[in-house]
Amino acid sequence: MAIPGHIDPVPVPREVTARSDGRVDLIGLPRARIASLLAEAGLDAKAAKLRSRQVYHWLYHRGVTDFEAMTDIAKAMRPWLAERFVIGRPEIIEAQVSTDGTRKWLLRTSDAHDYEMVFIPDETRGTLCVSSQVGCTLNCRFCHTGTMRLVRNLTPGEIVGQVMLARDALGEWPGSAPLLDAPAAIGEPALDDDDEEASEYTADGRLLTNIVMMGMGEPLYNFEHVRDALQLVMDGEGLALSKRRITLSTSGVVPMMARAGAEIGVNLAVSLHSVTKEVRDEIVPLNRKYGIEELLQACADYPGASNARRITFEYVMLKDKNDSDEDARELVRLIKHYKLPAKVNLIPFNPWPGAQYECSTPDRIKRFSQIVFGGGISAPVRTPRGRDIDAACGQLKTASERKSRAELDRLAEEKQAALG
Ligand code: SAH
Ligand code: SF4
Repeated sequence: MAIPGHIDPVPVPREVTARSDGRVDLIGLPRARIASLLAEAGLDAKAAKLRSRQVYHWLYHRGVTDFEAMTDIAKAMRPWLAERFVIGRPEIIEAQVSTDGTRKWLLRTSDAHDYEMVFIPDETRGTLCVSSQVGCTLNCRFCHTGTMRLVRNLTPGEIVGQVMLARDALGEWPGSAPLLDAPAAIGEPALDDDDEEASEYTADGRLLTNIVMMGMGEPLYNFEHVRDALQLVMDGEGLALSKRRITLSTSGVVPMMARAGAEIGVNLAVSLHSVTKEVRDEIVPLNRKYGIEELLQACADYPGASNARRITFEYVMLKDKNDSDEDARELVRLIKHYKLPAKVNLIPFNPWPGAQYECSTPDRIKRFSQIVFGGGISAPVRTPRGRDIDAACGQLKTASERKSRAELDRLAEEKQAALG
């Protein structure tokens, strides 16, 4: 099997998904790009810059979806903007709520590809699990998404759009009260309406406090789009979520890890899942390309990691595969050897139809956790959430894909029956 690397071609990378009505969706675009679009549409450079600043604020900080709500932009100019631009959101195909409060959305891109996002509330935080790709090229053996082929990378707009949609759904945009009504003509200076609030806005007291890039896809195989989307999320004048509250999870795309640290700078999670070459080669096939030593060295070199901002190692508990006492001790040894400020998240395996693994027993998981704790490394067991709506780890696989798979299974059965 070919193991793709960061330089391998990824199908259909594109900045903006084309729209049939010719208008441009502004969501996902940075301020400078909005300014150049406004200039192309006819504003002089100074006006384009001022207006882009206002529009940017309304889009990402206020979450408005209608140009009419941009009250510091001249009334006459709002329809002018609406003729040329739209403020998009991913289309919601289905929204489900679990008995434990976890919510899952099935979303559709404007060119009809489905992907998912999940919101997981608990006592102290609310975490949005964001997708970076439709499908995934890396066929980790225990992961349901890994059985899908990669359809395409999500655009920055489709990535940041998930966070914006979650804020819409949770009603969490700051101060939606109308601002100063400014009957300014096109090109007049922007009014500094609420810059102060921009710097004061924090996630505290809100439901959505954290973001994890742990939905469908491998974020480091869609590096630029993930980076550009997260920059909008982290920008104090944008969605204004601290980088300390954002975690990017990778299965170990070593050549992109340093860039992720330098250009995004969020917390790092690494899907380790095994401490031996033999087992990791099997369950995370990318290991054949970038081995454990290389991966751990990249973790040691990751900028910004410290005891206050530890690297999370994700470890899915697979019965008789990676869950022995020896595995636990080797995990501790490796983390110490590379002097990694680390914690370990033990994830009970979520079975799915056709999976070839079972989850380790609760006793085994407990013992594994104790050994790692005994080595001085935090190793909590993650409680599976949203199982009743298939929202838990590794369950993200779109309904349409499930259907086609079910159809395939039925066809296989029919064929079997015909043969036998
Ligand atoms: N592609 C990235 C991020 C998405 S996967 C990565 O692999 O890190 C998010 C996490 O869910 C990963 O740690 C992944 O290994 C884990 N996971 C996938 N399938 C799972 C399953 N069936 N049970 C438990 N965890 C799973
Ligand atoms: Fe892709 Fe992550 Fe699933 Fe592996 S675990 S197949 S990298 S989504």
